[in-house]
Amino acid sequence: MSSESDLPPKMRPSAQVAPPKPRPRPQDPVEQEFWKRCQDGNLYFQRCSGCGCFRHLPRYMCAKCGAPEFSWERSSGKGTLFSWTVTHQALHPAFAAEIPFVAAVVELEEGVRMATRLIGCDHERLALDLPVEVEFELIGEDFRLPVFRLRES
Ligand SMILES: [Zn+2]
Repeated sequence: MSSESDLPPKMRPSAQVAPPKPRPRPQDPVEQEFWKRCQDGNLYFQRCSGCGCFRHLPRYMCAKCGAPEFSWERSSGKGTLFSWTVTHQALHPAFAAEIPFVAAVVELEEGVRMATRLIGCDHERLALDLPVEVEFELIGEDFRLPVFRLRES
């Protein structure tokens, strides 16, 4: 009777199952707070208490006025397509079943830009400034990752 260890590593049944998609692994408390807040199904961005501007990626000081004070504000989750590329290679095996997929940068109504994936769209119809809206993809059993989808304007 053969066991899995009789097979070369890439031929083993355990190697044929796609691993779960990787989760963000934030090292920093303010970055951890961003991902934690995503888990309620909304996006939140830091807003400077000094000048009122929103910022992303999470950081400790406003790049415009230097103020360290901020609050977390709920985003509308709506924005526009700022840039994108259609990816035809899965650089991680968890994405192999989804190629080609769209890696995108979206600009939210609050003025911040965010790297993400655009899902459920016809790649041939993409154009700059198309309206998009956030959606949360479940990674594993309990992690919500923000992705975007085209919306009616
Ligand atoms: Zn500021």
